[in-house]
Amino acid sequence: MMFKQATFEEPLLFDLGRKGRSGIDIPGEGDRDLAKTIPKKMARQKLQLPEISQVEVVRHFTRLSQMNWGIDIGPYPLGSCTMKYNPRINEDLAWADEAQGIHPLQDIETVQGALEIMYRLERALTTITGMSRFTLQPAAGAQGELTGCLIIRNYHRLRGESRDEIIVPDSAHGTNPASASMAGFKVVEVPTGDDGCINLEMLQAALSDRTAGMMMTNPNTLGIFENRAKKIAELIHGAGGLMYYDGANLQGIVGIVKPGDLGFDLVHLNLHKTFATPHGGGGPGAGPVGVKANLAEFLPVPLVERTRDGYRLEWDRPLSIGKVRGAFGSFPILLRAYAYLLSMGTSGLETSCKVAVLNTNYFAKRISGIKGLTIPFGNAMRKHEVAISAEAMFKKTGINALDIAKALLDRGLHAPTIYFPLIVKECLMFEFTDTETLESIDRYVDALKDISRMAYSEPEKLRASPLRTSVTRLDEVRANHPLTMCLRYRGKRPD
Ligand SMILES: *Cc1c(COP(=O)(O)O)cnc(C)c1O
Repeated sequence: MMFKQATFEEPLLFDLGRKGRSGIDIPGEGDRDLAKTIPKKMARQKLQLPEISQVEVVRHFTRLSQMNWGIDIGPYPLGSCTMKYNPRINEDLAWADEAQGIHPLQDIETVQGALEIMYRLERALTTITGMSRFTLQPAAGAQGELTGCLIIRNYHRLRGESRDEIIVPDSAHGTNPASASMAGFKVVEVPTGDDGCINLEMLQAALSDRTAGMMMTNPNTLGIFENRAKKIAELIHGAGGLMYYDGANLQGIVGIVKPGDLGFDLVHLNLHKTFATPHGGGGPGAGPVGVKANLAEFLPVPLVERTRDGYRLEWDRPLSIGKVRGAFGSFPILLRAYAYLLSMGTSGLETSCKVAVLNTNYFAKRISGIKGLTIPFGNAMRKHEVAISAEAMFKKTGINALDIAKALLDRGLHAPTIYFPLIVKECLMFEFTDTETLESIDRYVDALKDISRMAYSEPEKLRASPLRTSVTRLDEVRANHPLTMCLRYRGKRPD
């Protein structure tokens, strides 16, 4: 498939239009008499909005959408966060007024349907994870982690223990140590062994009466299942700590293994990763936290309860860590997840897991012969994702993971996650999910072969990529800097 992205020299909305132009008539705008009755110093300032016609607005956003990439154009193989299939019916539901307009202070009688959905979703999540109860409040995985860490803290406090260390593997996502330290813990890092799993000896050496718990992602961020998870849980429990499951990679075991059966006491799930909701562009998300029965009393208030007279929000929970977000959480995201779970069913989830794992291992096998690319940390089967190293290519040719990612763009393919996990040098991390076809995966293999060939023969050409996209190489730092965005917004280009 030939690829060339649409390119427009698209100005900001603020730079379009003309003074006095308008796309809509605001009622009352012309009522000058009314305006006169308001004292000048109390009147609102005129809003600094773009003055632009309807057609200009529509064309502006349509052009921008054509310069963009999305899951509806091609694969979006970001690893580290399962990038889920999101059936269109979920969108219809999530955009319904009842979902978008729900308010935490609404009369409880008017939200019975929403509460029933939350109640049923909670039951489904407990079944999938082997937990006892869930809070659906947290806005994303990271907030779920903070919620979980606060539960761990209160659990130890109530028992009169002053444990202040959380163990985190060096393969962990950056939010793990960040959440633990926001909850007041000291982070103790344990290294990954040559097999891509946690080094048990180092873990044992890190345990003490200060150990409050351990955060683990399984399959881990290398896509490898931690085979000794049960043994690790025994060690942590033996030392008096709790086991926290970072569920970002649940896709790799969903429908087959329950974290609860592996000895985890708390989990967060990223509904926007494993159970529908596209998230490649960032938020909103939902990061429910589930716990075993002995921790349920610490969950945030309110929880959804079913009574003989219908559903209600239960606030009277004296040991709760408190409220972490509005009672309905990210309700449209919860709704998407619920619809997804209903449409998949138990066997559908298991199949999606198996096909995702099959896709990953097919890809891993096919790329393993490509010059300059290696799959570090042993030959264990991967689960839903695989981390590849381009270190060998970089050392010989100077072409790094970033260059490879940019070269993929020129071949009409979205780049994978790069430079994560941190323990893989020149890392490219791929995940295809269950929905990509064999041909899609083969296109990536062919592209990577072609890129490898060019890296060893004409690297300077690769370094110029991307040339077929609407923008070429950006200054990565400036492009991400919030100040740059602010200045752009005000119509001033930063220098
Ligand atoms: C994405 C991710 C998180 C954080 O989740 P958010 O929903 O982005 O806040 C934590 N751990 C891992 C392994 C992840 O991939």
